[in-house]
Amino acid sequence: MSGAVRVFKFGGASVKDADAIRNLASVVQQFNKDNLVVVISAMGKTTNALELVAEACFRKDESLSGYLDAVIDYHRAILSDLYGDEAGNYMDEASLLFDELITVTRQPGNLPFDRLYDQIVPYGELISTTIISRYLNQHNIPNRWLDARQLIVTDDSWRNAHVVWDDTRSAVKRAVNLNSEATGKGFLFITQGFIGSDPSGAVTTLGREGSDFTAAVLAWSLDAGDVTIWKDVPGVLNADPKYFSDTIKLDQISYEEAIELSYYGATVIHPKTIKPLQNRKIPLYVRSFLDPSASGSVIGDFAESIPDVPSFIFKSNQVLISIAPRDFSFIAEKNLQIIFGVFSNAGVRINLMQNSAISFSVCVDGDPRRIPQVILQLNASFKVRYNEGLQLITIRRYNQGVIDQVVAGRKILVEQRSRLTAQLVVL
Ligand code: ASP
Ligand code: MG
Repeated sequence: MSGAVRVFKFGGASVKDADAIRNLASVVQQFNKDNLVVVISAMGKTTNALELVAEACFRKDESLSGYLDAVIDYHRAILSDLYGDEAGNYMDEASLLFDELITVTRQPGNLPFDRLYDQIVPYGELISTTIISRYLNQHNIPNRWLDARQLIVTDDSWRNAHVVWDDTRSAVKRAVNLNSEATGKGFLFITQGFIGSDPSGAVTTLGREGSDFTAAVLAWSLDAGDVTIWKDVPGVLNADPKYFSDTIKLDQISYEEAIELSYYGATVIHPKTIKPLQNRKIPLYVRSFLDPSASGSVIGDFAESIPDVPSFIFKSNQVLISIAPRDFSFIAEKNLQIIFGVFSNAGVRINLMQNSAISFSVCVDGDPRRIPQVILQLNASFKVRYNEGLQLITIRRYNQGVIDQVVAGRKILVEQRSRLTAQLVVL
């Protein structure tokens, strides 16, 4: 192997249609001297579409075939656009995967939902990488497709699998060494984000938006020189442009600050991504696939972030659950133990919590499957009230002026401040 490996990650938006795929090809082509491992997500909103497939399959609902058709037709249309009249000649590998997907949905058995989900939703990544790998090979960008199910070793926590680090490292190194011919020109591997498999070979997923994390796991395993996440924004911004018109690009971010930002819900990077990179001091670049020559942002081993400005993180669809003991006793340690147990068993992450003498409030994402279950269980021992449709605003490096600006005209239900972070739950 000549030269350090570079890991690239392209998310759903960067492969959402034929033009996007052509653009990906031109970006990758510019790095053809490097040793590249390219991690790719499902195309566009395919993961959401496959979640509908999984839901319908689980309910054994007749809407299933419509949802399946939508996924298959979407990819067929992209193939037609990529190859025109010749598309039929390039359909075979993708068609095999369409057939496999259909077969899986025909035999749901009585699998628990999360397990069934992990058998269905990974087809998004399998199909996208298969189509793109073929397209690149066809366009003089020779590459090899690697099956992430044989690289990323996980436990069997369906839909939220944990990586078994040392086994993964061995598997990744073996696959890359075996497949990289010493051409001196640089190799190119294409693989899937988001998926892995447990030791029995059952496919698992790493949690929504998990492809960034896959890139970090591969980089960690290979001691990569750097990782680049290619996005449709110029880099890491101090706020999501969906919520804010005048965003500022952060040029340089320390690992610690990036961990804080993603922990609080900055969606630009998956929260689990930074730690493995920090452990090996691997820099992470966030760059625009629309403007590949622009500098973007770099997250690395820096003492401080540049520029030093407030960052805003907005999380919508929040639920604030207030829990009080039925007997009006104080929220004692015993009660807290029960409460945390309920959230932890349901796999629900607490975004913010606050306790008073007689109640304990918890702000969580409004997951339509898990939250009703949590509320039901809490109801067995406590008096529970909840508010839905809220927004959690986190401001790093806040000042009073920017707090006033974002909450103007809104009702604040909870407010918390520490030295660097202010958090507000608002209606
Ligand atoms: N396709 C998966 C998702 O949309 C993983 C990813 O894109 O990171 O959640
Ligand atoms: Mg994505």
